[in-house]
Amino acid sequence: MSEEEAYEFVKNTLKQERIVPYTQRELDIIHSVESCVNCGLCINYCPVVRAVGLDRFSGPRSIAVELSRSPPEFWASVDKIYLCTGCGTCREVCPRDVNIPEVVNLVRARLFAVRPDLVPSNLIKTSKIIATHNLAFEPWEDPEEKIDSRDMRLERLGIPFVEDPFVENAEVLFYPGCQAEERAQEVREAGKAVLSYFGVNYTLLREMSCCGLPARLIGDVKTAEHLADILTKKVKAAGVKSIVTTCAGCTSSLSQMSQDRKWGIPVYHMMEYLVEVIGIEKVREAVDIKPESEPSKITVHDPCHLIRHTSRQMEDYARELLTVFPIECVSSGVADSCCGGGGMVGYHSPDVANAVTQENVAGIEQSGAEQLLAPCPLCTAQIENALYRSGSDVDVVDFTVFIAQHLKPKE
Ligand code: SF4
Ligand code: SF4
Repeated sequence: MSEEEAYEFVKNTLKQERIVPYTQRELDIIHSVESCVNCGLCINYCPVVRAVGLDRFSGPRSIAVELSRSPPEFWASVDKIYLCTGCGTCREVCPRDVNIPEVVNLVRARLFAVRPDLVPSNLIKTSKIIATHNLAFEPWEDPEEKIDSRDMRLERLGIPFVEDPFVENAEVLFYPGCQAEERAQEVREAGKAVLSYFGVNYTLLREMSCCGLPARLIGDVKTAEHLADILTKKVKAAGVKSIVTTCAGCTSSLSQMSQDRKWGIPVYHMMEYLVEVIGIEKVREAVDIKPESEPSKITVHDPCHLIRHTSRQMEDYARELLTVFPIECVSSGVADSCCGGGGMVGYHSPDVANAVTQENVAGIEQSGAEQLLAPCPLCTAQIENALYRSGSDVDVVDFTVFIAQHLKPKE
């Protein structure tokens, strides 16, 4: 057999065995796994293990240890790999910096590319929606119904309507994300109301497109990269100096994208923008405070994508902003505990997602808070749903919506 024939033979054998060589980036992640010392610390902190037990989800250590072997073992991991919410708690506590959420993304990407028959069908369905519409949700069939839904939400929440600005040479791009664009429209509207109130020269994208995070979490790297290409073109064409989002996932995803694709501009969550750029004193002057109609006790949820994937400083920003209100900010003891909805677990296994949320529900209930603020529409929906089903009367409000609700009317 000639050298060329031998090469073809090996290549075809690898193809038949569905073995694909690692890229350098994948190798870096796998090397991080090899440093695992099997201490088990991550298991004690994993919210999914705590919620459903090791029989259902064998936990981060098993992902770290078992998946550091040979590619075929990836296929054996399929029962657990879609149950990780990507919260990053294991990475935060790991003494060896093993990057489990990235390992999970790597394995999901391999499964999607080589064994799509093993990917849960509802994730395949979602990936098709994303690839078709460039959004994580199917757009509304009737645009008039979408407007009616938006207006009802604004009226119920007392948020002023601001026309969509599509501005040339704007300083800031406001990027609401798919959830606020197609579902939690009050968050998109609240973001505009807040930025307009403070006189920010901002624009929206004429055509909103997904940042690619949901596709990446499903393992559909091709669609995720395509969406990142589209967004990069839009951001460069807009020529803005910064981006503001109202979603935790978008904040971490766009921050990473800005770094990887050299956008050269910062990405802020709205809370961060208010504290760092607008300034807390201006916020204090802007809010309309009616102590008699305010809930007296409020608690906060700190989304994983803000505190563990972006910066722990986000916790301080949320609490600093609340100092301008005449309320008591109480601790639930579980503010930084994963809501369960991340990592597409809410789509794939809602029973597991809801089991994880029970820890939040118990902490929020015992805190005595009348209201929970969450700076992310996904966490808001997940926790609100769980509290409602538990019979709780704690009100759940998105953080940006809360700020927009309290702005003084302008003369
Ligand atoms: S990222 Fe979160 S859910 Fe996933 S294994 Fe780590 S601690 Fe568990
Ligand atoms: S905490 Fe880190 S080193 Fe310890 S078992 Fe988990 S992944 Fe391995």
